[in-house]
This record gives sequence, structure tokens and C-alpha cells, in this order.
Amino acid sequence: MGSEETNLMGTEGGKQGKGRRLWKKVKYQLVEYHSLPAYLRDNEYILAHYRSEWPLKQVFFSIFTIHNETLNVWTHLIGFFIFLALTIYTAMKIPTVVDLNSLQHLPDMLKKTDLHKLQLELLTCLPSMPDLHRLREEISSWHIKEHLYNCLPGRFSGSNHTDVCVLHNVKEDLANIIAPLLIRPITRWPFFAFLGGAMFCLLASSICHLLSCHSQRMAYIMLRLDYAGIAALISTSFYPPVYYSFMCYPFFCNLYLGFITVLGVATICFSLLPVFQNPEFRTIRASLFFGMGMSGAGPILHKLFLFWGQPEVFHTTGYEILMGALYGIGALVYATRIPERWMPGKFDIAGHSHQLFHVLVVAGAYVHYRAGLVYLRWRDLQGCGFNELSISA
Ligand SMILES: [Zn+2]
Repeated sequence: MGSEETNLMGTEGGKQGKGRRLWKKVKYQLVEYHSLPAYLRDNEYILAHYRSEWPLKQVFFSIFTIHNETLNVWTHLIGFFIFLALTIYTAMKIPTVVDLNSLQHLPDMLKKTDLHKLQLELLTCLPSMPDLHRLREEISSWHIKEHLYNCLPGRFSGSNHTDVCVLHNVKEDLANIIAPLLIRPITRWPFFAFLGGAMFCLLASSICHLLSCHSQRMAYIMLRLDYAGIAALISTSFYPPVYYSFMCYPFFCNLYLGFITVLGVATICFSLLPVFQNPEFRTIRASLFFGMGMSGAGPILHKLFLFWGQPEVFHTTGYEILMGALYGIGALVYATRIPERWMPGKFDIAGHSHQLFHVLVVAGAYVHYRAGLVYLRWRDLQGCGFNELSISA
């Protein structure tokens, strides 16, 4: 497509600029459904406002212009930023397991510290700590850490260190050691795996919607990226509920996690095969994703059976049913192409099924995040009830 452009721009000076602008205006105009190449024809109820085979630069900057994919791009891009913010928030606010690296300068300080006096000071201070049960109502052990921090003496006797900063660190380290003994935070990796999966899916989908119209090859690559993102989101969504439900039953924990991981990887590999995109594979494709999602019913029922009666179990199951409903409605809207099928052309820019589907996916993933917080709090407070004390990372 570059040669015609250079011919047309072969004139001099201002004429050249004008010609170029005019050419671009014609060339990068939005087109109608019937003038699309076959590989870009996807939804005949969206009649116009298509970008078709634009150069990458124009395609990229079309993120800031209005066409029928603008809201598809932005719904998932905003979703991505929401999950990025949630990840940062979770990493900073929800207590982590003890970071052993932060303790490296502790032995040095302890040598100079009168531990006996420290013990006395802690003992006299701690009874004034608020009722532990009330503290346990809080999701975060930061509160406990704060109290301990305030209880620790401002300066260790016998220590010549007057550096406030060093003392501050030592106090924080000590609080870090003691707080987990009271509240026992458990590992966070399954939760962060889910957040990572959600961010990958949302970003991949956003990029897919932005760039697919560039060329057939690009559409092919982007679609695969999109499928991989969906498989990653579904697989990693299993990690927090399965891990935190069955962490005290390693056999089932490994069985379910192994099953969904293998299924997710298999789906990604399968989706990389060219045949996967053929129309006759549409049903298989949909069934695969649907089957992956539905296989979540197994561990959920198992969880209900094991922990029946515990409020957290009903709480999380409620969230999981709501999430299933949001994803389910999303899939239904996606498949039926409601509402544009009722009024073709009226929802080209805003309100068509794919945008609704995107919003429902973000909402479903957010509900799952909330469920994850309940799981974390449940296990932080309760552990396994027997010897499960996973303080180390
Ligand atoms: Zn999409």
C-alpha cells in the first residue's frame, strides 16, 4: 500500500502536504461491513465504523479516535488498570509473610540489646493491647504490628546506637517477627497468580481489539494472544479458591491445581494450532473455555462438603455464584449478540454485545478478587487448625 502513496505525493511543496492530507483522509476513513475483507467480518449487525487494514501507526493511534472498537479497547484497558491498582494495593496493604531479608541487620542489634529488659517492657505493655479477638476482626495484621511497634521500647538499653532510623528498623523487624505468630499469614502466591492472570487477559484482549484490523497475519496472532489470555484468566482464577480451600488437604490441592494448570496449558497450546480458528472449531473452542470454567463446580462443591457451616465458606461460595452469573450472562450476550441484532447499526459505537461482555468480565473478575480477600482472611485467622504454620515464604 506504500507505492500508490509515494506516487500521489510526488508533487512539490504545499501541494504535497495538501495531497498527503487528502489521501490520508480518504485512506484512513472508517468503512462499512460489506467492504471488509473476509477475515475482519465477524458481526453483521455492526454495520459501519470499521477500520480496515490501516498501517500500524494509524492503528495504534486509533486508540484515541472513535470507531466500533474504541470501547472494546478501553473497557478492558481500564479493567487492566483497575487490576494493576488492586495488585499494588494488595501487595502494600494486605500483610505479607515475613520477609527474612529484612532481618539481616537484626543479630547485630540484638547483641547490644538487653533482652531481659525488652521482655519486661513488652510484658507490661502488651496487656494494654486491645482484645485480640477484636483485632482478629480486622483483615490486616498491620494493626497487631502497630500495637507491637508501640509497645517496643524506643531505645534499647545497652545499645550505643542513637540513630533513630536504625532503631526504627529494628522495632519494625521485631514487630514483623512477632505479629505473624499472632495472626499467621499464609502464602499469597495463588492470589497474585490470579491477579497476574487477570491483568494478562485484560491487556491481551485490549491489544487484540486495537491491532487486529491491521492485517490478516496480525489478526491471526492477536486472536491467539486473546485465547491465551482467556485460558490464563480461567486457570489462575482457580488458584486462590482451590489453594486456600484445600491447603490442609495437599492431595486434593495438588490434584485440582494440577488439573486446571494442565487444562489451561493444553488449551493455550491447542489454540496456537491454525485449525483452532476454523469456523467448525467455534463450538469446540467455546466448549473448551466453558468446560474449564464449569470444572470449578467440582472444587466448590467439595469445599462446601468439607467446611459446611463455616461462614467464610458460604461467603466465598456466594461470591463464586455471583461471578459465575456475571460470566454466564456475559457469554450469553456474547453468543446471542444482543442488543445489536435487534437494531443493526444502532450500537456500532456504543452499547453492542461485545462491550457489555467486556464489562461483565471485569465485574466477574472483581467479584473473584473480593472472594480472594475472604479466603485470605479466613486462612490467615484460622490456618489449618493443626500443624500448618507457614510463616516462611
Ligand atoms: Zn473482546
